[in-house]
Amino acid sequence: MGAIEELSFEEIAAGVPGGFFIYHADGNEEVIYANDQVLYLYHCDTMEEFRELTGNSFRGMVHPEELEKVEKCIWTQIKENKRNMDYVEYRIIRKDGTVGWVEDFGHLVKNKLYGDVFYVFVSDVTDKIECRRRTREKYLNKLKEQEILRTSLTSTIYAYREIYLIHLEENYYRMIYPDEQNAEECGDYHCAIERHIKDGRIAEGHDEVRYLLQPEALRMALMNENSVGYKYRRRNRDGECEWCETVVTVHERKDGAPMTVVMGIRSIEKIIQKEEKQNMILKDALLQAERANEAKTIFLANMSHDIRTPMNAVIGFSDLALKHTGDPERVQDCLEKIRASSQFLLGLIDDMLDLSRIEAGRLHIEERGTSLRQVLAETERILLPQIKKRELNYTLDVSGVKNFEIFCDPLRLNQILINVVGNAVKYTNPGGDIFVIVKETGSLSQEIGSYEFQVRDTGAGISPEFLEKIFQPFEREQNTTVSRVRGIGLGLAVTKNIVDLMNGTIEAESQVGKGSVFTIRLPFRILRREEGGEEEEDQDRAEEGKSQESGSGEKDALHENSQELAGKRILLVEDNELNREIARELLSEEGLIVDEAEDGDVAVEMVKNSGGKYALVLMDIQMPRMNGYEAAMAIRRLKEPALAKLPIIAVSANVFEEDVKRSLKAGMNAHLSKPFEVEEVLSAMKQILWETTERY
Ligand code: ADP
Repeated sequence: MGAIEELSFEEIAAGVPGGFFIYHADGNEEVIYANDQVLYLYHCDTMEEFRELTGNSFRGMVHPEELEKVEKCIWTQIKENKRNMDYVEYRIIRKDGTVGWVEDFGHLVKNKLYGDVFYVFVSDVTDKIECRRRTREKYLNKLKEQEILRTSLTSTIYAYREIYLIHLEENYYRMIYPDEQNAEECGDYHCAIERHIKDGRIAEGHDEVRYLLQPEALRMALMNENSVGYKYRRRNRDGECEWCETVVTVHERKDGAPMTVVMGIRSIEKIIQKEEKQNMILKDALLQAERANEAKTIFLANMSHDIRTPMNAVIGFSDLALKHTGDPERVQDCLEKIRASSQFLLGLIDDMLDLSRIEAGRLHIEERGTSLRQVLAETERILLPQIKKRELNYTLDVSGVKNFEIFCDPLRLNQILINVVGNAVKYTNPGGDIFVIVKETGSLSQEIGSYEFQVRDTGAGISPEFLEKIFQPFEREQNTTVSRVRGIGLGLAVTKNIVDLMNGTIEAESQVGKGSVFTIRLPFRILRREEGGEEEEDQDRAEEGKSQESGSGEKDALHENSQELAGKRILLVEDNELNREIARELLSEEGLIVDEAEDGDVAVEMVKNSGGKYALVLMDIQMPRMNGYEAAMAIRRLKEPALAKLPIIAVSANVFEEDVKRSLKAGMNAHLSKPFEVEEVLSAMKQILWETTERY
């Protein structure tokens, strides 16, 4: 080994532990020398590679984003410290594109010959910096966590009025929140509770708290639990009483027994108030449910009575008629009573079904172009026999209506009117007056008009107490068992529900002994606007409204029907023998020739081999072997066109909208419900024969 003087500069520089380089401290900062360690820092194998990567300048050795910082740092240090030594950390970009950190100790050497140069010692501090970064991140996260904990604890503390630390063994307490200076900062815990009770801060009637908060009781309660809570009424510092909760949590244990505990007292006044409100709602709901249940029980008792009464009449009068077959007058009287009782039963079943469908949300309003005149005439037609029988004066006034052509569900509107006008008829004594006044009260928009139907009677009237619940189901003013008028108390409930579905309103006013006024308001889309000239016609119509006149019109129409149908042959498809007999007899009376089939299968065969002799088929739906839908579809599929087009009317005890739709879907022309009125069947037959002859 030679002496150090024998070593060249390069040999010395190469042996420096760590990176070492020299660059010109002028604007270009050209690298004069860099040892292998520097090349290694930059992942370069040769000086050429290093030169290419850095442009052979100090600027090229520094990450562009760090350049400004580095230069500023070097010059500031040199200038301000008046020393020619600097220290700086910066990022570098290695040959493979990765980023590393270096620390740089620079030493400025002023040299007259070469100009000023920097001697720089660099070393890789990437791992150190990364480690530092991680530590700092951890520290920041911890700070953040502590901050969250602090704020959440603070907000929890705010929920408490007071917080105490209690030493159960030493019988000592200290108020830890709020930390304002007050008399209660610390002292004998026992005394504090006693004082609270004496001062009335623990409200009367909560003596158990006195015991529960004693150190012995708390020690017992917290033996196996970490926390206990007690609710009681307590006077706050302003002297007002409020519901509070005292929560006691174990802070330290000694030999398993709680030694120090933290006691927080918070107001739960709002929570208790809310609970009380909810309890009230629940109680109310329970009461209502009980009431509804009670009403239902009464209703069932009433209904049982109301069904049994007419059933009793049906059976009794049938027996009587059988016993007096030789006395035509007696038989006629019995039959009329049987008929009336049966009709009452049917109405009852209809109302029940409607109500249950409304409750199940299955009743739909089906709007179509309708004439208001026709609906009112239909109501009148149905009620006329009763009006006559009860010798009432009936007046229909439509002078306030301009537009009669509207969109509505005519069946449901008719149902509303029949219920309300029907009640007026039922509950008005003979000789009384009934007025039905229909008005257009304005327009809700260009297309929608508001209509008012007012039904006035001079009947018995309704008491104010009953008037309040008149639209509730199952309610009747008198118990039906003592009432002489038949009814079940469902009609107005159904009516109100339908009116609601039609977006309308119904109101009742009444004076006992004087009469009642029911006002129904409904919006209808106007189908066709009238330009005027209606008044005269309406007047005529109002006159026509008088019961006697309309009554005779009805009979003429019926007569006309039977005349047109007389002599026509129809096929009656019905599996029930009794029903078949009734239909056969009633229709034969009207001059029709009736052939019979006991199920769908037989019916299809009969039509197939009929040679076109049938004008129409009356088809039951529920039948053994082949039902009415299948039979209708089979007929529609027959090869001979005339037979396939044969008009078919469903006559069924399936009476819901879905049933009607299903019949029409199966290819039938109409759907009538059972039990049927002869007039209804005749008019439907006439209508369909007229329509089908027109078409084909
Ligand atoms: P129903 O008539 O079948 O009993 P409603 O629901 O139609 O059922 O009527 C409920 C009750 O309202 C009737 O039982 C009757 O006491 C009373 N009511 C309804 N309309 C009138 C009226 N126009 N005049 C007097 N009482 C009436």
